[in-house]
Amino acid sequence: MTALTIELVPAFDDNYIFLAYDREDGVAAVVDPGDEAPVLKRLEALGLTLTHIFNTHHHFDHTGANLALKDRFGLTIAGPKNEADKIPGIDIELGEGDRFTFGSHEAQIFDVPGHTAGHIGWWFERDEALFIGDTLFALGCGRLFEGTPAQMWDAMSRLRQLPPQTKVYCAHEYTMGNAAFAVTVEPGNQDLLNRVEDIKKMRADNIPTVPTTIGLEAATNPFMRPDSPNLQQTIGLDGGDLVAIFAETRTRKDQF
Ligand SMILES: [Zn+2]
Repeated sequence: MTALTIELVPAFDDNYIFLAYDREDGVAAVVDPGDEAPVLKRLEALGLTLTHIFNTHHHFDHTGANLALKDRFGLTIAGPKNEADKIPGIDIELGEGDRFTFGSHEAQIFDVPGHTAGHIGWWFERDEALFIGDTLFALGCGRLFEGTPAQMWDAMSRLRQLPPQTKVYCAHEYTMGNAAFAVTVEPGNQDLLNRVEDIKKMRADNIPTVPTTIGLEAATNPFMRPDSPNLQQTIGLDGGDLVAIFAETRTRKDQF
């Protein structure tokens, strides 16, 4: 049994597409392919043929290359059941509690509505990897285009219970902007302040801040920390309801 190999493929201005493959098993997936060209270039360098596309949600920068890649490779597309009508070429519809077998690997599927109504997360428990699209970002969370703060907080509170070493593959490099906001709502979090310094160095050297980990996000991401007394005091909702605190944090980020 080998571990899943996972690679980042930068696309557009700030998207990350991921390749997940196991040569022994003869499986290779691309996660959320918004653009075909960078994926093909990397596949050629690796000498890989795609067998699957995994989608997290329907936005075009995550699905735009679905049909072109399906035409080229005859691959299988698996994606969210609750917005299947918006996923080009979908073959396998997945939702909460489903398990997806990928060679000798297995993903558990979570429904994480909020950014879109049918958004799913893919958790490969044994490989300690989470493909989470635009739901959880390094120091941030997705905008609530189709869902409510209560739904998004429910997703965040579930994700933070995953093993802390779980690698989080989020689909955008938004970390510098998220960091600038995070320090305004939890200025007393020393772990956060230390991380922001690390992030500045990484970005100055053009190093991706993705993947992050569940443990790092639970300690520093304001959208996973509505129960932080420092955050609550800063936004003026001391001891308040966690959904209300999450919602106020999200609103402030929208206006930041
Ligand atoms: Zn999106």
